[in-house]
Amino acid sequence: MYFLSFFVVEMRNNYNHTLTWSTTRITVLEYCNKKYYFNYYPHALRSLNEEIWLKALLLKNLKSIDMRVGEKTHHLLSDYLRALKKWLVDEATLQTIKDRVLNEMKTEFEISKTRDYTSYDRDRKFWLSEHYYGENADDKFQEAMQKVLHNLDVFMQSEWLEKVQHYFNTAKTVFVENPREKDFDGMKVNLYSIPALKDVNVMAAPDFGVIFSDNKYLIIDRKTGQEKLDTDWVSDQLKIYALKLILKSRIDIDKVDIEWYEVYLPSLHQRGGKITKTDIDAIIEQLKEDVEFQKQFLVDGDIFKNNPLPHGDFPRTKSEKKCASCTFRKVCEELKNFE
Ligand code: SF4
Repeated sequence: MYFLSFFVVEMRNNYNHTLTWSTTRITVLEYCNKKYYFNYYPHALRSLNEEIWLKALLLKNLKSIDMRVGEKTHHLLSDYLRALKKWLVDEATLQTIKDRVLNEMKTEFEISKTRDYTSYDRDRKFWLSEHYYGENADDKFQEAMQKVLHNLDVFMQSEWLEKVQHYFNTAKTVFVENPREKDFDGMKVNLYSIPALKDVNVMAAPDFGVIFSDNKYLIIDRKTGQEKLDTDWVSDQLKIYALKLILKSRIDIDKVDIEWYEVYLPSLHQRGGKITKTDIDAIIEQLKEDVEFQKQFLVDGDIFKNNPLPHGDFPRTKSEKKCASCTFRKVCEELKNFE
């Protein structure tokens, strides 16, 4: 059996600037066209107004404390599992692993709290949206550190720890992603065999994986966000991982057994099933559909040049609720002066 966890990550391709697809990117586009513009094409604002451009870059790098909890949980679990893969982790080592993440969080929090938000600093891009928008986030931050530690504790006390150790001891291959040092080449999904998609950048990075044989896999995705337990459908993210496996191994979906789970922290709620041919066909169609949607916002629909249409061609959402929590709300308002 296989234990694999993957994360689809949106990032700049090392070799070109052609259009990228990711679940995050499509979610943002559907959420608000203007937000998609700010998030993925802020450079296009440079020729319009330097101040707006730099502000958009600053806001693009804002992260909320809640987002930080998910990210740091991912780091902590990865650090722990990579150590566990090499040796038995004793109490002192475990504490060192926890301290590393906590110290990182504290340092970043202090930088964010005391930094100058009136200008964009390309060498120090990290900041918290709570600080940018003038909120007192001290209590929330203390809670965030506890949540990150709690997520690891819950995992270690769950059946998953025993399962993971079993995979470490018996599997043919075990892979644990290091989110601190991403392997961009290894993340790329090779879509060359699908003509309509062969030039689109898609990245899928395994978080944790075990291979026991050439045709049997288990994919597990760790989640800290909103739980979707009332469905048994496979998320696009998991389908992409399965597609990547199939394309990379050149195996027939009918001859491979890919089991999947999504495990939520800290609740440990989980859902899962088997990847079917229908799932694979569906994700290929979904990718094609999404790429066509994205192309509508590009000059000449050219995915190689990947130049966005003018900012006025990216409509704003009509939902005030969405805008109230949007990190781009400040620059979005100021951009109206140029419309
Ligand atoms: S503030 Fe509202 S309209 Fe503007 S980018 Fe954000 S969600 Fe879209």
